[in-house]
Amino acid sequence: MPSVLAYHRPTTLDEAVDLLAEPNRRAIGGGTVAVPEGRTPTDDGVELVDLQALGLDGVTVQGDRLVIGAMVRLGDLAGTSTPTNPDIPDIPELIRDLAKRELPSTLRNQATIGGTVALGDSDSWLLAGLLVHGTQVHLHGQEPISLEQSLEECVGARVVTAVSIEFDGEASEGRTAIAGTGRTPADVPIVAAVARRTGDQLRLALTGMAPSPVLVDPTDPAAGLEPPGDFRGSASYRRHLATTLSARVTGELA
Ligand SMILES: Cc1cc2nc3c(=O)[nH]c(=O)nc-3n(C[C@H](O)[C@H](O)[C@H](O)COP(=O)(O)OP(=O)(O)OC[C@H]3O[C@@H](n4cnc5c(N)ncnc54)[C@H](O)[C@@H]3O)c2cc1C
Repeated sequence: MPSVLAYHRPTTLDEAVDLLAEPNRRAIGGGTVAVPEGRTPTDDGVELVDLQALGLDGVTVQGDRLVIGAMVRLGDLAGTSTPTNPDIPDIPELIRDLAKRELPSTLRNQATIGGTVALGDSDSWLLAGLLVHGTQVHLHGQEPISLEQSLEECVGARVVTAVSIEFDGEASEGRTAIAGTGRTPADVPIVAAVARRTGDQLRLALTGMAPSPVLVDPTDPAAGLEPPGDFRGSASYRRHLATTLSARVTGELA
């Protein structure tokens, strides 16, 4: 059976939402996951809805938040090669650094922040960084929700239009620390810890410990978590890494 039955490129959000109301339609941000999956033969086939003509690729400061359009590429956030958007204002250093750590560079220039949030990959450094930056996820037609809630609920067929992070110039960057352990230094970490301190507040997020990155209690980081065990590391090894890496990053910020 054919897999991709049709390609749509809506020019308004309402049109995109209407198209995505059908169960066999799938949004494409950068397409790094959605396009290869669309090629997999299915009984019913899939129709792809490309979000690139909706004007969701801007970054603006709105009040005390930096609003990053869903179609902003990770390469643009990272400030690495091939800027598709030359008007990106100063992105907090932690977010820039973590965006640089995602994916190979070729895919980074394609992958979008909206797709990253919608997918909620457990290993994503960037999602952990966004969690400690108090990120809100903007969905078409409703009030923004916290990134935590978005990852728990899995935004599904709703269209992510933007994410916004706390932003007050350099003051809102706070002090940050990251640590991760992978099979090799270049490999995606099995578990990573990302911490940010602003004044008295300390936020800590972990990757590799749950279906998506999670905010955890800095005093008891592995509490309540049931990490998967796989060829990269057993559940107990992941718990050990979570405790050790968390102590390292929170110690750095003490
Ligand atoms: C080789 C390779 C390496 C990878 N490495 C990493 C990695 O290091 N870290 C990591 O986190 N991920 C990784 N991934 C997974 C994935 O590429 C990234 O999460 C990427 O950021 C997804 O972004 P995208 O814009 O390409 O999403 P797409 O492929 O376009 O979409 C992904 C999902 O999100 C949905 N979606 C996209 N945009 C929106 C939107 N605006 N609103 C609602 N739903 C939307 C799509 O329907 C689809 O279900 C990797 C993938 C590959 C192929």
